[in-house]
Amino acid sequence: MISQRIKTLAPSPMRALDAKAKQLQADGKSVINLCLGEPDFSTPDHINAAAIKAINAGFSHYTATAGIPELLEAISQKLKKDNHLTYTPSQISVGVGAKQILYALFQVLCDPGDEVIIPTPTWSTYVEQVKLAEGVPILVSLSAPFKLTAEDVEKYITNKTKILLLNSPSNPTGAMIDKTELGKIAQLAIKKNILILSDEIYEKIIFGKTEHVSIASLGSEIFQRTITINGLSKAYAMTGWRVGYAAGPQEIISALNNFNGQVTSHTASISQKAGVAALSGTQQPVAKMVREFAKRRVVVLKNLKAAKGLEVIEPEGAFYFFISVKKLLGKKYVTSEAWCAALLEKAGVAVVPGEAFFAPGYFRMSFAASESELQTACDRITQFVNNKD
Ligand code: PLP
Repeated sequence: MISQRIKTLAPSPMRALDAKAKQLQADGKSVINLCLGEPDFSTPDHINAAAIKAINAGFSHYTATAGIPELLEAISQKLKKDNHLTYTPSQISVGVGAKQILYALFQVLCDPGDEVIIPTPTWSTYVEQVKLAEGVPILVSLSAPFKLTAEDVEKYITNKTKILLLNSPSNPTGAMIDKTELGKIAQLAIKKNILILSDEIYEKIIFGKTEHVSIASLGSEIFQRTITINGLSKAYAMTGWRVGYAAGPQEIISALNNFNGQVTSHTASISQKAGVAALSGTQQPVAKMVREFAKRRVVVLKNLKAAKGLEVIEPEGAFYFFISVKKLLGKKYVTSEAWCAALLEKAGVAVVPGEAFFAPGYFRMSFAASESELQTACDRITQFVNNKD
């Protein structure tokens, strides 16, 4: 009954694990769930207030597919101020989260057999979405600390390469691409006539010295072949509101609007009003959340020091640790997947195995949880590892 296309679609591994953790919790087991990729903060009050105002004003009708003019203008201003990018509102399209925008872009850009280069470890959604668009994901496997270089990419370019996917800071590694390397990647993309999809959804959540740079800001030629993707989920703790957007060449954005016009129409009218408040209002809640994340990152770094055999790499951005368990694999646990299943069963900590990111031998641990939860999780992991459970 089900189409071949959907039969071969891998289920979202994070959601499956999250469900298992919740089931154990429902059965009365103490489980710290560090699987999902969402801030544990509430949406800031002034954003909620804007949405409530919109509801009370009856702002409940269909809007333009690309989004309301106010929101497109707010995004245009944000891209100018934060990213040094000049996009007119007509070069911007808002969708139902960055995930849906990415899906639509692959549908709009890929012909059957077009190759999309995706550096791994990576968020599995990119890979599945490329396949759904009949494109071919070409995975470029990076070693720790997972910083992509132009040289890594060049080896995988063929005459079928259409798109290079960039995600800096990265989910799941937190690694960032620095400006010099981005410049080299841009030159390569120009020389080889490749489009760039730059997913910058974690741009605000950074901790190290590396500054976030939008590749499209590095010159007019790369600007013309880049689609910049972003959204409100992570920076403004708005995962449930479903607001994501793309900015890029007019031809591509018009095609994206055409596609969404037949598929989703637009994201919720109320969410769009909330989005205007998020982007145009005070940015202090964002800074506050990032300060909290920074403190939690230190809690994990400190508290996992005693866990023998784990290799902890310091994330530069996002809110994940991507930790190697390679030294702990052997007879008892052959794969990181088995190791993570045992960690959940025996120690009550839910993390996502590297297999879910095309990087076996690792696990991803979100630090979007309270300091006390993280402290307990680290204690449990350390005990699990040191007792060789
Ligand atoms: N891009 C990356 C790298 C992500 O990790 C996520 C969510 O986990 C998204 C995009 C999608 O965000 P949303 O659809 O909530 O805007």
